[in-house]
Amino acid sequence: MTQILGSVPERLARDSYMTDEEDNHIEINQDLARSTGAGKLLVAVCPAHVYSEEEDGRISVEYAACLECGTCLAIAPPGTLTWHYPRGGFGISYREG
Ligand code: SF4
Repeated sequence: MTQILGSVPERLARDSYMTDEEDNHIEINQDLARSTGAGKLLVAVCPAHVYSEEEDGRISVEYAACLECGTCLAIAPPGTLTWHYPRGGFGISYREG
């Protein structure tokens, strides 16, 4: 028997986040992101909308919403991103796999 679990946004809403205010686990090299066009790619691919483009072209990073999926690391040119998992006890806690 198939169990209906809801839409992806509904399922993600059941997860919890513990934000580490002392350690932004994602940092972006603005100059490289702009010169390579990677900033726009990051905005397009992140499923959690962590990245957004400001009016001046800078890419802002709302790291607290990160799902830790690694997609941004897979597409960013070397040197564009500094990314590491949040410290123990911080970041996302999945409740449904
Ligand atoms: Fe977005 Fe995934 Fe990168 Fe987190 S790891 S910033 S959710 S693409």
